[in-house]
Amino acid sequence: LNIVDNLEGSDFITPAIVDRDPVTIAIGTEGAAPVLARQIKADLEARLPSSLGALARIGKAFRHAADTLPMGRARRAFWSEYYTKTGPASMSKGEAATKAALDTLLAQHLAEAPAEGHVVFAGAGPGDPELLTLKARRALHEADVVIYDRLVSPAILELARREALMLSAGKEGFGAAMSQADINALIVKHASAGAQVLRLKGGDPAVFARLDEEIEACEAHDIAFSIIPGITAASASAAALGQSLTKRGRNTEARLVTGHDMQGYADQDWKSLARAGEVAAIYMGKRAARFIQGRLLMHGAAANTPVSLVENASLPNQRIVATTLGQLPSALAEAALTGPALTLLGLAPRDAVVPTLKQEVAQ
Ligand code: SAH
Repeated sequence: LNIVDNLEGSDFITPAIVDRDPVTIAIGTEGAAPVLARQIKADLEARLPSSLGALARIGKAFRHAADTLPMGRARRAFWSEYYTKTGPASMSKGEAATKAALDTLLAQHLAEAPAEGHVVFAGAGPGDPELLTLKARRALHEADVVIYDRLVSPAILELARREALMLSAGKEGFGAAMSQADINALIVKHASAGAQVLRLKGGDPAVFARLDEEIEACEAHDIAFSIIPGITAASASAAALGQSLTKRGRNTEARLVTGHDMQGYADQDWKSLARAGEVAAIYMGKRAARFIQGRLLMHGAAANTPVSLVENASLPNQRIVATTLGQLPSALAEAALTGPALTLLGLAPRDAVVPTLKQEVAQ
């Protein structure tokens, strides 16, 4: 039962409708303001041409033909021009003229459409969406296909266009759920089909992220690419400690090293790393902790050299474990870190770092 203007007595309410079949706009106020709904309807009725329905119908019949345009940006540009310019302008001359105008428009767009897609390799930063660069954010908004690593946080993936194809490459610090060859093939496949591909990697795409292999795959197929840097875990972790990576009078270099490579534990120039005051950011270092400790002590490093681990740097569940080289394996075992963690050799959290930190610090 519906009684006009009587919300309490009605079992259902009907929205106001602007009908340009197949385009239908319903305006509902949940019964709160029927007069307002009517005003909005009147406003839309006046604003939307009566030929809108025919415009959409002609467009629909043409969709198959327009699919010859590369998927993504090229196709969107074509439809946007039809609905905002070409279509409305030719509808006044009738439906036949509009169909002819569509043919002409498609021929123009086909001539201009890039034959190949493009790949953007972008860094997603350490996890906090606010640490995404403006450029990476724009790339997320423009991409047709987003191929992302496991380290990229869900909050960042939400920034992609709703229609974008989201593909997980499932990689972790150790090994890969999807082989590198498969990832390369996936990038090439979508870019060759004309898509704007965004290859999104945690942190910076040029730090321990196998960027070169993916670039080489693009080059082998003549696919254009560009790189957007990101904030690497070392920067975010040093910020969490309230420390600099380099400091006048302490260290004139800071090294980015990996605890692990494809062959196993990675060898480093242990002798120079063991010197007092050295700072190194060790990526993928959790499992290699005992190995690293052994090598450094063997090369003369002091057992009381500060070592800090930052887990989930920049994220709400960030944790800091402050320890020393001598205590590293036991501190790690006790902390039982489960997220990605960066080991900072030679750095301790600054005393003045937020008070809550002290509770999280395991000595
Ligand atoms: N390209 C990334 C590194 C990929 S290697 C970057 O520039 O940061 C993966 C390693 O990075 C992890 O094992 C961990 O050591 C580190 N890492 C990545 N994100 C991290 C985070 N939010 N907090 C702490 N360490 C992180």
